[in-house]
Amino acid sequence: MAPEVTLPYGRHQVDDEDVAAVVEVLRSDWLTTGPTVEAFETAVSAYVESEHAVAVSSGTAGLHAALYAIGIGPGDEVLVSPMTFVATVNAVLYQGALPVFVDVEADTLLIDPTLIEPKITPRTKALIAVDYAGQPCDYDALRGIADRHGLYLIADACHSLGASYRGRPVGTLADLTVFSFHPVKPITCGEGGMVVTRDPQLAHRMRCFRNHGIDLDPHQRLVAGTWRYQMQDLGFNYRLSDLHCALGLSQLKKLDLRIAQRQAIADTYDQLFSSQQQLVSLRRKADISHGFHLYVIRLAPQKRDQVFTRLRTQGIGVNVHYMPVHLHAFYRHSFGDQSGCCPVAERAFETILSLPIFPAMQETEVKRVVEALCVAMSEARPS
Ligand SMILES: *Cc1c(COP(=O)(O)O)cnc(C)c1O
Repeated sequence: MAPEVTLPYGRHQVDDEDVAAVVEVLRSDWLTTGPTVEAFETAVSAYVESEHAVAVSSGTAGLHAALYAIGIGPGDEVLVSPMTFVATVNAVLYQGALPVFVDVEADTLLIDPTLIEPKITPRTKALIAVDYAGQPCDYDALRGIADRHGLYLIADACHSLGASYRGRPVGTLADLTVFSFHPVKPITCGEGGMVVTRDPQLAHRMRCFRNHGIDLDPHQRLVAGTWRYQMQDLGFNYRLSDLHCALGLSQLKKLDLRIAQRQAIADTYDQLFSSQQQLVSLRRKADISHGFHLYVIRLAPQKRDQVFTRLRTQGIGVNVHYMPVHLHAFYRHSFGDQSGCCPVAERAFETILSLPIFPAMQETEVKRVVEALCVAMSEARPS
């Protein structure tokens, strides 16, 4: 049996205020699709300085709703980075479209803007940028490409709520921005997601989509004093409950603090690694504020798996984010062997290791990780 992980790569934090907020809603008239959903949407859109926010049941549902809203369908192509969680790409398949993988930059693992245009065809409709590890992509470059070719720009910002790019918050940088509130993410609802946009039409389409394609939800019908509704299109039950939103609303108040805590831990890692030649962290770009959902280092490929096993034996929950999506069995079976299509991501996958980072992590714990890592590195044999 694998040893117990005492220091995970990510850990949520829920305090008494969060618990009280959920209990208050639990005792109220609305458990789902009531006033707390709207309050959470308003708070998130204000926080990220976007006009409209649509709460959904997960980040995955948010990606699906975003692609639905812009009319992605069979025959369309969507450009996407392979260095992401499978959900980003699965959402393209939910809409019957074809994902086209674009490689990443070696030192940030963010989509490489110089590689996008050669992949654009007359069928390309959208580009999904993934703010890997919490670091925003180069949105000025991506915006330029999207505008030149008439593409929608979607940000998968499941890692980067609270981060910013050239002084502009994540949430204002793309046509649609998707957040996740899974427990390892910057703030949590247990499960949950949100899509923000400046476009009222897209927001309306997503509101219908999350509620079976019905044009008015129960709360809106109550307010409008009517029982009438129409199902206008085929949608899903992707609603987020008032209970979840109560937790999210309370968590949002602490987001800035949590991000500052993550950044401080990253700074400590950086300092401790500055004297270590063999350990290279991902590059932090100068013009961004990094959310540090993940702290990722790169090792020699011969050593990565040995170091992983050694640290896990000591209860240190290192991890690998991610195996490039096109290498997953389902993608190989469905689309054939695409290995070699994104050589930078494929090579990076052999070398990367995510170290524990979460807001409540203590400096002594950071030091424990670094010491264990240095020992594991010196013991690893070149195989
Ligand atoms: C977590 C995550 C998702 C999916 O979010 P869920 O809320 O778990 O559905 C999508 N993309 C990325 C990059 C993620 O990290």
